[in-house]
Amino acid sequence: MNSDQRLVRRILYIGAAIMCISGAGWAPVFASQDNYLGVLLDLLMLMCGVGVVLLTWASKQRAAFFILLGVCYAVIVLMSIFMDIPSAHAPRVAHNYLLVLSMCCMFILRQERPWLRNVMVAVPMITFVGFASTNWGIASGFTLPDDLRIWGAWVNTAFAVLAAYCIMFVLLSGNQAAFRLGQELRRGIENHEFVLYYQPQLNHQQKVVAVEALVRWLHPQQGLLGPAYFIQAAEKSGAILLLGRWVMEQAAQQLQHWSQNPTMRGVSLSVNVSVTELLRPSYVSGVKELLQLYAIEPARLKLEVTESVFAEDFSLVVERLTALREVGVGIALDDFGTGYSSLAYLKRMPVDQVKVDRSFVRDIVTDPHDQAIVASIVQLASSMGFSVVAEGVEIAAQRDALQALGCLQYQGYLFAQPMLLDDLLNYCQQHQS
Ligand code: C2E
Ligand code: CA
Ligand code: CA
Repeated sequence: MNSDQRLVRRILYIGAAIMCISGAGWAPVFASQDNYLGVLLDLLMLMCGVGVVLLTWASKQRAAFFILLGVCYAVIVLMSIFMDIPSAHAPRVAHNYLLVLSMCCMFILRQERPWLRNVMVAVPMITFVGFASTNWGIASGFTLPDDLRIWGAWVNTAFAVLAAYCIMFVLLSGNQAAFRLGQELRRGIENHEFVLYYQPQLNHQQKVVAVEALVRWLHPQQGLLGPAYFIQAAEKSGAILLLGRWVMEQAAQQLQHWSQNPTMRGVSLSVNVSVTELLRPSYVSGVKELLQLYAIEPARLKLEVTESVFAEDFSLVVERLTALREVGVGIALDDFGTGYSSLAYLKRMPVDQVKVDRSFVRDIVTDPHDQAIVASIVQLASSMGFSVVAEGVEIAAQRDALQALGCLQYQGYLFAQPMLLDDLLNYCQQHQS
């Protein structure tokens, strides 16, 4: 789990705690007043709060958030209209929670499509403005008496402010943690604490045709750390520029050595590139310089980008990748099928290879949908002139199913885990083309 996911979890737990406490706290008060609408809404909050905790626990954060959002919004609106109607003695306060809900939407949905995020942030805000600016409500037997609403206003406002404070605190502490990690990353790069692992890609004849470089951090206190722990913080803090440069230089050095090694001469090397690196104005010239400095045949180097890099600035990313391809460097589209790119966009993406994401490979043996998706990707790739490699191949049956669908290049634990250089060279010797 990366640092952002940890923040989302914390926010969901705070939201669930508020739902449970207010549900459990107010239900008996409403029951004592024979206000069954209030009891019903509070029991709903309590149950959904428990549901949010369980879903978050089971790593289903997205489902947990949409339940939290939907139920809280509906309960707040119903309470504001039917129960918490302002009077000369007590203001309406239930709607204050809508602002907290908006803050959560802004952060938790930050990686969703912009229209979805904007709508989800705007709806609670606009509803807040409506309730805060009018005395509107529908008086009925469910309307709360002023004596209850006078102290309820203090309790609910204090609770909403406390919730806003907790969320701001969690966000700030997350940022500070990412900042500290960024500083530590820079120190780690200076102290040569990073190591490249290599994972081979094989063809259907069990021969190594390419290798992917995957970075690890040999942390002095915490031991060997995978990229899930630090890549996001490296991107946020800008340390990815230093780290990416280091990875690229290591890759260039290896390619130079490999050009003199008969086993490795024909093997290409893939390097993962993040969008921050790609958008740096000097990125293309930096890669060209390295190719020259180490006298590397450009076709031996492949850069892996995910579809999400195109979301940042489509034309600029296309321009950068086109410039790299013109030099002869290969471009692979990583985690293919998990993004939102349409076929019309795909046509304009300057790529040579697509990497079928491991989520489609996992159940390929049994799931006809995954089989249909992979068959379409293979067909699409062949008609557009891309090669296809499947990642996350863990068992022989997956490889066989992929082969039957026309995918003839594989990467995964079935063949080899990412390994250190010496092990890779031995492995390649045993599986040379
Ligand atoms: P990725 O590019 O999708 O890399 C493949 C990930 O899948 C690797 O995780 C690899 O160890 C793992 N993997 C390989 N075969 C299997 C398999 O059969 N089953 C399963 N379950 N997993 C498999 P890793 O090394 O932890 O890297 C995670 C991600 O970190 C990479 O995903 C890549 O996006 C990023 N990353 C790694 N190195 C770099 C780097 O130098 N620069 C940048 N910007 N990102 C990097
Ligand atoms: Ca990759
Ligand atoms: Ca991948």
